[in-house]
Amino acid sequence: MHEWALAESVVKSASKHAASEKLRRLSEIGVVLGELQAIDRDIFSTALRELLKDSPPPACGFKLIEEAASFKCRPCGREFTLEHLKKTDEEGENIHFIPELAHAFLACPACASPDFEVKSGRGVYIKYLKGEK
Ligand SMILES: [Zn+2]
Repeated sequence: MHEWALAESVVKSASKHAASEKLRRLSEIGVVLGELQAIDRDIFSTALRELLKDSPPPACGFKLIEEAASFKCRPCGREFTLEHLKKTDEEGENIHFIPELAHAFLACPACASPDFEVKSGRGVYIKYLKGEK
C-alpha cells in the first residue's frame, strides 16, 4: 500500500540519518505531509508506529505536520493556494484524491493561466529529527 511504502522510506532515512549523527535514540521525528499527497493519515500513522518498532535506533514518537499546497503562476507571478481555487466541493475532492490532475482543474486566479508551478504541498519528507547521542 501507498502509505506503508511512504512510511517505510521515512523510517529508512530516519535510521540512516540517526546512524550518521550517531544518535542512540530518536525522541521525535517530524514528518511533513503535503496537502497534494493523497495520504490516509490513520494508515500512515499506524504504518510509521509499526515500522519504527523494528528499526534502529529506538524511537519514541513522531509528529505529522500538514503542509498546505501553494502554487505560483508562471506568466504573472501570482502565488495562490487551493483555498483560492476551490469552486465546488466536487472539484476540491478531485484535487484531493488525484493530485496529478491538479493541473487539469486549476488556473491562476489573477490571469486564468493554467501554467503554474507547485511550490509546496507535494510529497512526504522528514523535517526534523530529535534525538540523543
Ligand atoms: Zn497568473
